[in-house]
Amino acid sequence: MLFSETSLPHQLLTAVADYGYRQLTPVQQQVLPLALAGNDLLVSAQTGSGKTAAFGLPLVARLSAQSPAIGAIPKALILTPTRELAQQLAIHLNAFAAGSSLKISAVYGGANFRPQRQRLLQGVDILVATPGRLFDHLSQDYLDLSQLQFLVLDEADRMLDMGFIKDIQRLQKWLPSKRQTLLFSATFPPVVRQLGQQLTQQPQWIEL
Ligand code: AMP
Repeated sequence: MLFSETSLPHQLLTAVADYGYRQLTPVQQQVLPLALAGNDLLVSAQTGSGKTAAFGLPLVARLSAQSPAIGAIPKALILTPTRELAQQLAIHLNAFAAGSSLKISAVYGGANFRPQRQRLLQGVDILVATPGRLFDHLSQDYLDLSQLQFLVLDEADRMLDMGFIKDIQRLQKWLPSKRQTLLFSATFPPVVRQLGQQLTQQPQWIEL
């Protein structure tokens, strides 16, 4: 299937074509329509499968039609295990959002806290974060997750391997219950399944 045959908005089709994508990967073919339709998803997908665009494009499509961000009140949160992945995700999302006014920020450990806070306070639509640093920001009481419409867990099995289970469970009290949740993981051991079931509502399973 070609991107031009999807229901993605025109501006996004241009951004995707500029990025050199023509044909959807298998994970994109399965995830894109269900994510655009608002479903919660549990997806088994490897690195390199094209999963970033599978969740990134629906997020950008849905959010770019909304009013621009004011303050540190993101509409989407993407959790990812490492600083490198957070940086890469932000680069990809910025490319998809070219031509929109969406603001995308990444926060991760190993970098100064204050510039991250300053950027978030200037407005953020999509926040990419590693769990530990997200909590550092949340504990300062200026980051408001109450308006989140989308939660994405990227590489959930790796996040749990790295000991982030408590952080992710603790996060739930900051999240609005009405939201769309997409969880991606290369493997689904019982602990990932359990977390997936805690965080999603009537999820669809996608296995590739
Ligand atoms: P990911 O699994 O999201 O990390 O993507 C792996 C690599 O595949 C990245 O370099 C993407 O830019 C590239 N990629 C993702 N989707 C497509 C596509 N539909 N066509 C061509 N390349 C893609």
